[in-house]
Amino acid sequence: MELTINRAPVDHRLLDDILARAQALAGLSVEEAARLLTIDEPESLNKLFNTARTVKEAVFGRRVVLFAPLYLSNSCTNNCLYCGFRIDNREQGSVRRTLSVDEAVHEARLLEQKGYKRLLLVLGEDRSASDLSYLRTVVEAIYSQTGIRILHLNAAPMTVEEFREIKAMGVGVYQCFQETYHEPTYRRMHPSGKKADFQWRIEAMDRAMEGGFGDVGMGALLGLYDYRFEVASLIAHARHLEARFGVGPHTISVPRLQPAAGAALDRAPSPVSDAEFKKIVAVYRLAIPYAGVVISTREPAALRDEVIEIGASQLSAGSSTEPGGYGDHDRSASQFEVEDHRSIDEMVKVIAEKGWLPSLCTACYRSGRTGDHFRELAEEGDIKQFCLPNALLTLQEYALDSATPETAELCNRIIAREGGSLAASLREGFMKKLGRIKAGERDIFY
Ligand code: SAM
Ligand code: SF4
Repeated sequence: MELTINRAPVDHRLLDDILARAQALAGLSVEEAARLLTIDEPESLNKLFNTARTVKEAVFGRRVVLFAPLYLSNSCTNNCLYCGFRIDNREQGSVRRTLSVDEAVHEARLLEQKGYKRLLLVLGEDRSASDLSYLRTVVEAIYSQTGIRILHLNAAPMTVEEFREIKAMGVGVYQCFQETYHEPTYRRMHPSGKKADFQWRIEAMDRAMEGGFGDVGMGALLGLYDYRFEVASLIAHARHLEARFGVGPHTISVPRLQPAAGAALDRAPSPVSDAEFKKIVAVYRLAIPYAGVVISTREPAALRDEVIEIGASQLSAGSSTEPGGYGDHDRSASQFEVEDHRSIDEMVKVIAEKGWLPSLCTACYRSGRTGDHFRELAEEGDIKQFCLPNALLTLQEYALDSATPETAELCNRIIAREGGSLAASLREGFMKKLGRIKAGERDIFY
């Protein structure tokens, strides 16, 4: 696919028209998104950001979801030039490690103690180190031996049958980044291994959906090629999934290239500035309003705080990108450098102080409010009705089980305020559930 990017200045009437449609949650066409990406004067940018905030609140309320990645293996047979796990990285310190099942459970427990309920399993592509039966054992062990409630997975593309098996294990979202939609760049960046096959990767989301995943997570790795092309292409990819399966991506991640020890690239070939990054977040929010927009700790703290205000709805926090990175361990290679080192407690506090609602909730995945059901609920505005009380219930668990005293106090204030704002028909039931949590019960949700 080739795309011509229109760099003509956006005329204000046209901009207002596009933003009005987006505000009505109609999404953006690829052309409209491409136009919004060319905006750079402050007044238009402000309009764009304000609309993104309004859309985020209309779909998700004021919640910001928190999670952590759990790296299972840094062993990889691919050679992505930008990644510290690539097979040709033989630098000192690039020790390969695949966690044993007990080690994976130990890491999950450490994260659970910190208050996490949802984790993203991440691993390199090496079937000899981590095949499907390994994954099954890990997933079953974490679910049965820890209080972690939902596991998502970021792993190499698989066959339809394999996706079916992964889904049956109870994995929530299958996530896979296209890295770049620009085929010549893709070929240069992925010189060998299974990942060198562009077609195999770009069809991964189709196979995942055919295999039963209603919830898939997409992303383009920013910094490899012109971001305008990448964002427009990702939106076109999402439209394809909507047309074929009736549902688009559950999440869109916005990974930006970071330095990585042992990577073959020493800098991004097409760097994306912070100002461009913010524009991208806002455009994704408007283009696919029902998708969670996920920002990782690759980004610096101040920028992460800003993008909460313009459309980001999920943040990883307190992350390690190294297998075994949360416990006492021998060092092994990490995937890339993390910029935001704040703990989950600090993130809960920052989000709360900004007037947003930190959410550790996982209820939707466990109540079947996923895939097209999630979208239907979102369209009817019901997400807020379920999600606000559920987010408050898990925040109460966090305040009681894991928070520092100062953060707990802040959480309790939010719970009192937001609980009081619930519709009268919900309030009594909510207060009862809250009371049960305070009395020691856990995992109560709508
Ligand atoms: N190995 C699988 C794959 O490549 O799809 C899944 C896990 S991989 C560890 C997860 C993602 O990390 C990749 O899709 C890539 O976008 C991202 N990544 C790799 N190197 C990076 C870097 N130096 N900076 C930022 N993100 C990076
Ligand atoms: Fe392996 Fe994934 Fe890193 Fe590529 S990005 S080297 S496939 S872990």
